[in-house]
Amino acid sequence: MQKIVLASRPDGAPTPDNFRLEEAAVPTPGAGEVLVRVHYMSLDPYMRGRMDDAKSYAAPVPVGGTMEGGGVGEIIASNADGYAVGEFVMGGLGWATHAVVPAKGLAKIDPKTAPITYALGVLGMPGLTGWFGLTEYGRPKEGETLVVAAATGPVGSMVGQVAKSMGLRVVGIAGGAEKCKLATDHFGFDACLDHRAYDDASALRAALKEVCPKGIDIYFENVGGKVLEAVLPMMNQFGRIPVCGMIAWYNAGGLGADASEGGLTGPKLWRTILVNFLSVNGFIISNHWDRMPDFHKAVAPMIQSGDIKVQEDITEGLENAPQAFIDLLNGGNTGKAMVKLI
Ligand code: NDP
Repeated sequence: MQKIVLASRPDGAPTPDNFRLEEAAVPTPGAGEVLVRVHYMSLDPYMRGRMDDAKSYAAPVPVGGTMEGGGVGEIIASNADGYAVGEFVMGGLGWATHAVVPAKGLAKIDPKTAPITYALGVLGMPGLTGWFGLTEYGRPKEGETLVVAAATGPVGSMVGQVAKSMGLRVVGIAGGAEKCKLATDHFGFDACLDHRAYDDASALRAALKEVCPKGIDIYFENVGGKVLEAVLPMMNQFGRIPVCGMIAWYNAGGLGADASEGGLTGPKLWRTILVNFLSVNGFIISNHWDRMPDFHKAVAPMIQSGDIKVQEDITEGLENAPQAFIDLLNGGNTGKAMVKLI
């Protein structure tokens, strides 16, 4: 089998040197465990945090340890009751062609009901994140205006499409004209702005004013940085900000703010929240797996009917995972990033 380990911790943006491809013997499952042949592994922004030795909601990957991540695959050996060879499962399989894992940590998936890749994206962790964060903390109401960045990714596209289905005006922010076209033409957003086309937050804010004439009621926070700076002063009273991610700062060390973004000092931010009576809710989806059945009930029929569109970005081969991950952090992916291993 092959696996990708963390060779060294990055200093700023990760480079290919931070990863190493290793060969290993295929492990044997112990009691209660199964051996899974991984078909697709997921690439997600949170993995950048695991590469740092910083205090966070999850422990870092040790140097020399296999990179962590979700995957889908087929059970090829089982030492666990109720988990048969030939069944497909989703779980924390890591960046590896094979994984031995405790069966109780896995979710079974049925390849006949949906493509197995959906369990990593539109029907999996990122999809749940978008749906849960929006409905629970965004509290959307018909006629309101929502803004979401990383608009064509699996979280942002779920947020935007569910909000559209609830009658909101939905404005996306994405990197590049092509992604913006995808947001409006494929995902049905009302408008989309290319954040790379604006030099600073005030230029982006001026453009946002054109497409959000009634201000912003919900800002679904995926990125931080320039986008957050542009959006905050435009929040309407009683606006809601589900704080999901801040990818613009992931290379800044831990989740620390990058001083070069400027302006957004603590007191200013605090005052904006007070005078506009904003609700700001941070959340981590791993605390809310219990909502997966509700999410599937609400969203699976919308995928089947075509009301929710899917966009996947699949790289072939484990050896290409590090570069695909580096690209993801820089916006090189178009849709849910994953790697096909078989
Ligand atoms: P995406 O597939 O959308 O990939 C990340 C995207 O972020 C890139 O494609 C790029 O899109 C955008 N991006 C990168 N740098 C910047 C920047 N400086 N400014 C603006 N945009 C940038 O990712 P996901 O949909 O999987 O995740 C979206 C967010 O949700 C991330 O912050 C992630 O960490 C977070 N998340 C949080 C979870 C939680 O439990 N709280 C769970 C899952 C995800 P573009 O080219 O369009 O700019």
